[in-house]
Amino acid sequence: MTEKSPQDRLFALWGEIRDLENAEALLSWDQETGMPPRGQGARGRCLATLAGLKHARLTDPGLSEVLDACAGEAAPGSEPEAQVREARRHVDRAVRVPVELAKALAAATSSGLVAWQKARRKADFALFRDHLVTLVRLRREQAAAIDPARPPYDVLMDEFEPGATEEELTPLFAKLREALAPLVRGVAECGQGVDERPALGHYPPEKQLAFGRMAAARMGFDFEAGRIDRSTHPFCTGFGPGDVRITWRCQEDDFRPALFGIMHEAGHGLYEQGLNPAWEGTPIGPAVSLGVHESQSRLWENLVGRSRAFWTWALPRFVETFPDKKGLTVDALWPALHAVRPSFIRVEADEVTYNLHIAARFGIESALFRGELEVDDLPAAWDDAYEELLGIRPRDMAEGVLQDIHWAMGMFGYFPTYTLGNLINAQLFETARRELGDVEGMVSKGELAPLREWLREKIHRFGSRYPARELVQRATGA
Ligand code: ZN
Repeated sequence: MTEKSPQDRLFALWGEIRDLENAEALLSWDQETGMPPRGQGARGRCLATLAGLKHARLTDPGLSEVLDACAGEAAPGSEPEAQVREARRHVDRAVRVPVELAKALAAATSSGLVAWQKARRKADFALFRDHLVTLVRLRREQAAAIDPARPPYDVLMDEFEPGATEEELTPLFAKLREALAPLVRGVAECGQGVDERPALGHYPPEKQLAFGRMAAARMGFDFEAGRIDRSTHPFCTGFGPGDVRITWRCQEDDFRPALFGIMHEAGHGLYEQGLNPAWEGTPIGPAVSLGVHESQSRLWENLVGRSRAFWTWALPRFVETFPDKKGLTVDALWPALHAVRPSFIRVEADEVTYNLHIAARFGIESALFRGELEVDDLPAAWDDAYEELLGIRPRDMAEGVLQDIHWAMGMFGYFPTYTLGNLINAQLFETARRELGDVEGMVSKGELAPLREWLREKIHRFGSRYPARELVQRATGA
């Protein structure tokens, strides 16, 4: 009998960890799309059991030994070395956090979520305040346990955007603020609103779904390796390139939320379907970071979906699906796809103001974890940041400090990935134009395959083979 190589042993162990994760993800997908309300209790227990099993696998000394053996054999810069790097990232986070702390975090997150929902409904920060204090304290402890030598905010960001640092992001956000703030002021001062009526009307949900599916299929989303279902908040989840789930929601009087939501999630879905099947179940198999993921969704949603070129091709099909819209022209519709208006709600923000919402949150979160702000300072800090960046001041705390779910879930360091996605997508699109030639010309004929294949070649198929910044640099040269 021949002995298995360390890498084969790593893949066998890791494949089971990935299976546990996929089972968790599938149950979570079901929770959002099909589970009846009374299933909640059993589902919660089941997810906790799977999380416990995964934690036990990750912290098993046998896995660490195999990783040491793999590391000894891996040449610098090689694929096996990348496998070790990615596996260690997960193992270290699991091993270094004491079980008691992990349990306290899980408990604080679930009670924080309940408290936040109530606090938001009543626009009363006091109902959430103590929970937030606990969550911040536990996250600090977690960051110190994982790596006491690095700034806690950097360690927290690692979970979503490995390698991102406050030191690098601070000047990046400063530059963005400088460029965007005058644009936003200009829009407010010009006093001329966009006519959004061309986008409004009556859009039956089943027809919206049919049109959205058509757009997703045209983008290359493979419905033999994926599906679309309804949920309260749209999302995408994947269990390997052969099974990717996206969701949607709609508004009957406005087609924009459903269509651009579907194109956004299908953009995420293309990334998941385009991952290298040879690496499925291995540490470098999955998408590399949330920022890179968001670059894919935003590229299809904004740079393709809201473009004049896309509508040159799509409008006749749109009118066929929605005959009420007969006579609509691209010239009339296009401005309505780009209305800009400072608002309090990030998820509804337009392309100009979106990054300012993130800049506000980044400034507040990083100050909080540097110890320059206390939880009690947050409501005022939030309102001040909105006044400074967007020129508007929230009327109550539901519009202000309580609006996002992330903090209630203890997710600090997540927000910057949205802006990184916006920036990376612009970089990628510019490079694609340079390398493919007339991308707009192709899109205006409904030829979306060249752009998709380019993204597959430059981003999707690499999974986590290279760290995010290296991947982007390889793809764009910058
Ligand atoms: Zn997204």
